[in-house]
Amino acid sequence: MRLPLKDNSTVAIIGGGPGGASCAIKLLKECKRTGRKIRVVIFEGKDFDHHFNQCVGVLSPPFQSILENDLGLILPTELIKRQIYGYRLHGPGEEILLIGQHSLEPTYTVRRVQFDKYLLDCAGELGAEILKTRVSYLEFIRSNGMDEVRIYSENTYLKADVVVGAFGLDEMMLSVLEDATKSDGHYSRPPKVLKTYIAKFHTTGGFIRQKLGNIIYAYLKPVSIPNIEFGAITPKGDHVIINIAGEKVTSPDMDAFLLLPQVREHLPEFESENVSYFEGRFPTAPAKNPFGHRYVTVGDTTGWMRPFKGKGINVAIVTGIRAAETMLKYGLDKEAFKNYAESCRELLSDYIYGTGVRLLCNYGPAFVLDHLIERAKTTPLVYESLYNSVSGQESYKNIIKSMLRPVLIKKMAQGIIKNYFHKKGGRMSDVKIRKLTTRDIDAVMKIDEKITGKPQEAYWAGKIASYLSREPEACLAAEIDGKVVGFILGDIRGWEYTIPLCGWIDIMGVDISYQGKGIGKMLVESLFDFFRKNGVETVVTVVNWNDGDLIDYFHTHGFKRGEYINLVKKLN
Ligand SMILES: Cc1cc2nc3c(=O)[nH]c(=O)nc-3n(C[C@H](O)[C@H](O)[C@H](O)COP(=O)(O)OP(=O)(O)OC[C@H]3O[C@@H](n4cnc5c(N)ncnc54)[C@H](O)[C@@H]3O)c2cc1C
Repeated sequence: MRLPLKDNSTVAIIGGGPGGASCAIKLLKECKRTGRKIRVVIFEGKDFDHHFNQCVGVLSPPFQSILENDLGLILPTELIKRQIYGYRLHGPGEEILLIGQHSLEPTYTVRRVQFDKYLLDCAGELGAEILKTRVSYLEFIRSNGMDEVRIYSENTYLKADVVVGAFGLDEMMLSVLEDATKSDGHYSRPPKVLKTYIAKFHTTGGFIRQKLGNIIYAYLKPVSIPNIEFGAITPKGDHVIINIAGEKVTSPDMDAFLLLPQVREHLPEFESENVSYFEGRFPTAPAKNPFGHRYVTVGDTTGWMRPFKGKGINVAIVTGIRAAETMLKYGLDKEAFKNYAESCRELLSDYIYGTGVRLLCNYGPAFVLDHLIERAKTTPLVYESLYNSVSGQESYKNIIKSMLRPVLIKKMAQGIIKNYFHKKGGRMSDVKIRKLTTRDIDAVMKIDEKITGKPQEAYWAGKIASYLSREPEACLAAEIDGKVVGFILGDIRGWEYTIPLCGWIDIMGVDISYQGKGIGKMLVESLFDFFRKNGVETVVTVVNWNDGDLIDYFHTHGFKRGEYINLVKKLN
């Protein structure tokens, strides 16, 4: 090792966001574990009690395992504002609800400022010195037998053995680092960025429950606002965050986005003049020479974020951790930091694939994206791929690889031919009872809306998803010619209300255009078969006492009145 991180060395970290704080935590935890002693100084210009880094605050998988396995931290539950179950993706002309079927970890929304404060406090508790001041200048001194970094801030001067650039896309610091490495190192900032605007809407009562649910609404290339590459509506605790992004996006684009009917339906009433916007940037291309003699960059400063669903917080944390590991294991010179780049290879290697997907969405014909969305409604592989790319669960490389399977291409071609000869309507012999899947959630909500005549409440989508994850075999769909025309959601449970283990019919519905054809009976009988196979002796359901038709319906299936009544109290 040519330039090791010795005992009593000083590591200066510029920026106490997720990248800088994670680097400090990893350094200090490892030193404690191995009995080494180093000094870690974090410069952070913001006071997280008052100022915040612009962000939507979505923590995507595998965030939780990174935090637990690599940093030994557990996200405090009080930081979690909401768990996200899925995404509603709007293409130019088609939309689809995407729910993760195989996600191993949850997606959360947090208040970013609380999250940043939490990580920085953890670093402080481990012994990092936190200086609330902005760095203004940097020097790498390599003359007269000296080899050190000098850091200048508004009120401090520090000599360090190595500097970690964790200052995000701060314009001034990007220039300072470029300048300081001009003769040795040649750091050059990420050459491309996406501009972004954010707006925040406070909500009251059950607004989020009814109008959004635990779902993020994503909009790709809205036709009438071509500058927007993507926009999103994200539910938090008691407010909703809107963000738009694009290379040339402007604040008037945000004005127009907020007025789109498909956006407005998820927002509370507002006066345009009273809405405040905040602007920010994401890197979309890698920086040049992100490390060198006695310097290493992490997080946004590297530009190693994948285009589109960038998961910038994850990237910042992972790069912070890898930089710390490299310093401890290999040292502080350029040769040593090559191991850092190698350990982050998976981030970099996906860049080219992400750029391809981004170009396709931006410049490909609208019908390609719409066709993909349409196809995803019936083809699990396409559905999974769309979910993975919108949620950031998989690398673009793997997503593209999975889509290029010959079997899928064949299926798509078959689908087009089948559509051509599509027969309308359907005879009873065409009814197929099968397991309900997350791809059917939209259809289920539409059937329910038709029956009840009441608009859907957005949180139902998450509720249906939770039925599917609890007892997938007890959730069935009736299908005619590939169209879902009925559904039943059941469960095997007991304990609550002191009821013994029973089969439950919780919700069922048959499209009104297909009622009276015995479809409900087929669904109920299929569910009974499942209950019988699982040793269930009693089946329970709950109906409104005043709904004579429904009571009659269940009577025909052999149901009798049970022994429980419901008690109700009105809250003011
Ligand atoms: C609008 C918007 C929404 C986003 N939403 C999400 C999301 O939902 N999920 C997600 O994963 N990612 C999101 N991102 C990306 C994410 O915010 C970043 O990728 C992530 O914050 C990068 O972390 P970082 O530590 O590298 O930099 P930052 O979080 O930018 O932290 C840099 C820190 O350095 C400090 N600093 C800067 N200059 C100096 C200086 N001279 N002296 C001292 N301190 C300095 C700053 O005050 C700041 O605290 C979003 C980004 C934007 C712009």
